[in-house]
Amino acid sequence: MNKALRQAVIAGNWKMNKTRPEAKALISELIPLVKDAGCGVVICVPYTNLETALDATKGTNIKVGAENCHWAESGAFTGEISAAMLAEMGVEYVVIGHSERRQYFGETDVTVNKRVRAALNAGLKVILCVGELLEQRESGITEEIVGMQTKVALGGVTKEELKNIIIAYEPVWAIGTGKTATAEQANEVNHYIRTVVEKLYDKEAADGITIQYGGSMNAKNADELTAQPDVDGGLIGGASLKAPDFAAIVAAASK
Ligand code: PEP
Repeated sequence: MNKALRQAVIAGNWKMNKTRPEAKALISELIPLVKDAGCGVVICVPYTNLETALDATKGTNIKVGAENCHWAESGAFTGEISAAMLAEMGVEYVVIGHSERRQYFGETDVTVNKRVRAALNAGLKVILCVGELLEQRESGITEEIVGMQTKVALGGVTKEELKNIIIAYEPVWAIGTGKTATAEQANEVNHYIRTVVEKLYDKEAADGITIQYGGSMNAKNADELTAQPDVDGGLIGGASLKAPDFAAIVAAASK
């Protein structure tokens, strides 16, 4: 499948890190380092940093995303933030279904689907995370798990809406652990996800969708991972908190 048919995107996932002054400093350092990027550049930041990030990235090639959103437009959901609230601020992207949300906050494939649909309805672009646990990989059911997560998350999503979705394959055992999937493992699962998308939609949709790899991607391994035919950039946790490291990954995906 032809890599030239889709855009590589490097997205940072800051998780629960950075105060507003720290966010401002990191973004100021990052702007000149990624200004000539040949791939999409997104930073997904805590809610409290969204306004700061939107202001600091104005007029640059860096897009801003949130790390989650609720499925309802408004209402009695204490502590939650709706997709419409994010869109109104000017936020463009939202991460949905990150494994930390699934692991610590009871996120299921069904709630992921509800959030995906709400985000699309609000006009946001979605970075949809899927990935297997270590025991699931060791049991040989990676494809079943990732296939099911993808199918349920995309329930009710039209082919037109799919253009606003990036899928991030993130093996849970590789997130924040320093254990990266090999380039072959990453490519194999990314390719499988593309075949799932082809079955759900068609070849054009499968060729066009950006499928990232995420899980301990860093300045050293980014070249090999992003060179894989089915790996269209990455979702970056730890290494997105240091501007030179994140910029090196952007440079790798720009080749
Ligand atoms: C992530 O949070 O999505 C992630 C991939 O984290 P890390 O790069 O730190 O493994």
